[in-house]
Amino acid sequence: KNTPFSSDGKKNMNPPASVSALKLSFSDEVKRAMRADEFKLYYQPQINVKTGELFGAEALIRWHHPERGVLYPDSFIPQAEYSGQIIDIERWTLGRLFRQQAEWQEQGEELTNIALNISGNHFVHGSLVTETAHLTHSYQIDPSYITLELTERINTELDVWVSQVSMLQDIGIKISIDDFGTGFNTMAHLVDVNVDFLKIDQSFIKKMTSDNRAFKVVQSLVQMAETLGAVPVAEGIESQEALHLYQQTGGQIVQGYHYSEAIQAQEFQNQYLSLEK
Ligand code: C2E
Ligand code: CA
Ligand code: CA
Ligand code: CA
Repeated sequence: KNTPFSSDGKKNMNPPASVSALKLSFSDEVKRAMRADEFKLYYQPQINVKTGELFGAEALIRWHHPERGVLYPDSFIPQAEYSGQIIDIERWTLGRLFRQQAEWQEQGEELTNIALNISGNHFVHGSLVTETAHLTHSYQIDPSYITLELTERINTELDVWVSQVSMLQDIGIKISIDDFGTGFNTMAHLVDVNVDFLKIDQSFIKKMTSDNRAFKVVQSLVQMAETLGAVPVAEGIESQEALHLYQQTGGQIVQGYHYSEAIQAQEFQNQYLSLEK
């Protein structure tokens, strides 16, 4: 995820004039999009391959831009991290997730596992615990049904990280480590705190079918999750072949295009929730 802006995250560097102008127009665009309600949460199903049942979903943001069509997060999240607006965007995604869960709950169709991505900026910003506690209370949501996905590459002190995670878990929220296996400081963080899920990065899953070493790495990551008391979740399962291989590792929860891409809430409800009735 390389943008011209994200090189070292220093706030006080002076970007060239052209970059300043770009940054300004991007922030204005985001503000406009928030007012116009152009951000949407899409939901990608997660399947328990042992039972064949729906396990839960990961919520993924999309920007329905009036001129540029549907924008994917890789095209605007890095810039929003740079501009600081990721905090505003994620206040919206958090609120939207809880509201969606409340709507589904009213219809007796709430998900027992629903996951949302949280950026490093937001995680270290400090308000996440308060925001989450507030939302849990005001929407009357069972916090253990909500998972926050954190990336390993968060630039923060170990003890700050551990205490933030513990405070969220004290509220009852579940914690998942995204892109597991790709970070540099994983073990130091994970030995000190019990996270609930580890998401095995799709780069390993995709290589697994053509590369036996990658398969063995996936096997070890599944075992590592179990050693750490976390449930492994595979992402990027695109084929029957990948699914079969992954099942041989003992892993049970999968997500990927083999089942479905992320779809809009109503479609997700029609396809995956209403069926259970
Ligand atoms: P991620 O958290 O690793 O999410 C998984 C990405 O892989 C999603 O891309 C998903 O659509 C895609 N994917 C799922 N199954 C498959 C598959 O079988 N094959 C392939 N090739 N791809 C698959 P998406 O939605 O474009 O999101 C990209 C990244 O943007 C996410 O990666 C996440 O880091 C970030 N992101 C998405 N929504 C949010 C959000 O609300 N907040 C923040 N901070 N980041 C978000
Ligand atoms: Ca994720
Ligand atoms: Ca991931
Ligand atoms: Ca990723």
